[in-house]
Amino acid sequence: MKTTKISEAVVRRLPIYLRYLTHLHHMNVKTVSSQKLGDILDINPAQIRKDLAHFGEFGRKGIGYEVDYLIEKIKQILKLDQEIHVALIGVGHLGHAILNYNAYLKENMKIVAAFDVDPQKTGEVVAGTTVYHLDQLGDIIEEKAIRMAIITVPAEAAQEVADRLMQTRIKAILNFAPVNIKARDDVRVHHTDVTTELQSLSYYL
Ligand code: NAD
Repeated sequence: MKTTKISEAVVRRLPIYLRYLTHLHHMNVKTVSSQKLGDILDINPAQIRKDLAHFGEFGRKGIGYEVDYLIEKIKQILKLDQEIHVALIGVGHLGHAILNYNAYLKENMKIVAAFDVDPQKTGEVVAGTTVYHLDQLGDIIEEKAIRMAIITVPAEAAQEVADRLMQTRIKAILNFAPVNIKARDDVRVHHTDVTTELQSLSYYL
């Protein structure tokens, strides 16, 4: 598989392709053209072909893409062919909601441990996931081979939690706290912020 420098926009579209391809797989559809993918996903077919061409020649002229083969390749590219263990830090309202969603997480991704500083919460099991004290972060992350983390603590605690995560083997963080986390170059942080999303959406009213 080719490994040129890939833009974030391309990486963000791959799970969208994967979701629809998986739907096609369940519908027993064997092949799909970039035109059809583009129509359904509202993405320019040329863009889809270009995105996928970064990683190899997956399509065939006149036939399009073989659905199962493309699913396999996109999973490999996104490393979803491996089991990915995730930690969640901050078992409050949002933390609970995400832990309850755990069973629905796709592919081999699973939240295997949760952490909090509240002694009333540690030792609790939420939707099958044990809540540990934050002091156990390093040990549990090693023990459970955790590679990604989700931050759902209040804004004022988020950077400190991220700093502690960066002292472990974690290289990818999804942050829900409304604060811009500073991270080392070798650690990838994605932010998700409902408020700013709504504010920018409001522009289109
Ligand atoms: P919450 O107060 O219900 O929960 C926060 C949890 O974090 C608590 O259990 C608390 O004990 C724990 N905590 C505090 N400091 C910690 C630390 N240093 N280490 C580990 N755990 C710590 O808050 P919430 O509503 O679940 O929101 C959590 C974060 O997500 C906030 O930053 C909030 O702005 C953001 N957020 C919340 C929602 C929502 O719908 N609730 C939506 C989007 C974003």
